[in-house]
Parts: sequence; structure tokens; C-alpha cells
Amino acid sequence: MNKEFIVIGLGRFGGSIVRELAEQGMEVMAIDKFEDKVNEFSSIASHAVVADATDESVLKKLGCRNFDHVIVAIGDDIQASILTTLMLKEIGVQNITVKAQNDYHEKVLRKIGADSVVHPERDMGKRIAHNIVSNNVLDYLELSDEHSIVEIVANEQLAGNSLIDLDIRAKYGINIVAIKRGNEVIVSPQASDLIRSGDILIVIGADSDINRFEKKVL
Ligand code: ATP
Repeated sequence: MNKEFIVIGLGRFGGSIVRELAEQGMEVMAIDKFEDKVNEFSSIASHAVVADATDESVLKKLGCRNFDHVIVAIGDDIQASILTTLMLKEIGVQNITVKAQNDYHEKVLRKIGADSVVHPERDMGKRIAHNIVSNNVLDYLELSDEHSIVEIVANEQLAGNSLIDLDIRAKYGINIVAIKRGNEVIVSPQASDLIRSGDILIVIGADSDINRFEKKVL
């Protein structure tokens, strides 16, 4: 059976989640306090409802508890975002993802039991910065404040070397966990595997170590 989702707040972020979930054939209830927003999604979401999510009785009436995952995408109104999350938690929703506006907002959300907190603008800003610094950095995923996974395109300087030649683990303290080569993905590459120009290296490690390595492949 398909999972069922609720998205509260139909701004650009919440709206794009609704569209994507609907495209993937998921059941999604879209909620916003403004009718205009809700009308925009009436033909996209399974249900589109005008409601103030800070009203606990409304959340109960909508049966939020029975959904697999609720995404709180209320942006500017931090108080409404916190209150909604708190009530969803109290009602007993199993999985709550909330968009945070800043670090303080995130701290509070985590304290009250949000299962996942996302900062789309901050995270996208970081990704783009990495991509601008080095055209060879294709993607960037933050694992913690200090650790990330990045996709780096191997340049001519790396090509023809084996992982042992490069001695990346000892020199940089990072690990190449996979290599994408065309449609092929080499998981856990061997020390003797030769890197080819254009290979995409999936690298994991501390940000400072990855940065040093990124400079080598600029
Ligand atoms: P974007 O995703 O476009 O960047 P944003 O971060 O600026 O959005 P807002 O526009 O502040 O976020 O809020 C997103 C949506 O949440 C708005 O459409 C707003 O009407 C809705 N919203 C705000 N408070 C509530 C509430 N209490 N109940 C339901 N929806 C709400």
C-alpha cells in the first residue's frame, strides 16, 4: 500500500513536496490556511484543505494521526511552525519533518520531538557554494556539522592513478566509498583500481579534509 502524507504550508517548499509526492503516486493531503493556496493544489493533491494547523481540534478532525508522515512547511511564522509540530507530536504522529528557518528554530523543533529538521535554503546554499568553488564537485550531502559526502569528478591529474598510488586515506583522511563510471557503480573500490578521467568519486570524510582534496581536483 502507498504511504500517506500530509504537507502543511503550501509555499514554494511545501508546494514542491506536494507536487513530487503526487507525481510519485503517493496519497497526499495538502493543507494551508489560505484558500488561494489550497485551490492551487486541489487538482494535484489527493485532498486539499483550508485549515489553521495551529488549531489542535482541526488536526484531530483531519485524522493526522493515521498518516505515515507529516511535513510542516510553514516558513516565516516560527511560532505557528513550533505549535503545529508540538500538537502533531501530542496527537501521536509517527514521523514529522519540519522546515526550520534558523538554528534556534531547529533547536526548539528537536527538543519538542521533530523526527527530522530540514533547512532547504541553507543546505542548497552550501551545495551551490561547493559547486561554484570547484566545477568538479557535483553534489554535496551534509552528514553532520563536520562531515559530508561529496561527488567529485576525477580530473586528468587523478586519472591513471590507483587508489593506493594516491594514498588518499593517509594523505587526506577521507575515503572513496564508490566510483560512478557511466552507468556502472563500483562499490567499495579496491586499492589497485585505476581511476579514469571523468569518473565520479563518492567521497566521505571531515569537511576540512574534503576541502583539501577538492583543491587538488580544482
Ligand atoms: P517558501 O517555501 O515559499 O520559501 P516560506 O518559507 O516563505 O515559503 P511561508 O510563505 O511563510 O513560508 O509559509 C508557507 C505557507 O504556510 C504559506 O502558504 C502560509 O499560508 C502557510 N501557513 C502559515 N501558517 C499556517 C498555519 N498556521 N496553518 C496552515 N498554513 C499556514
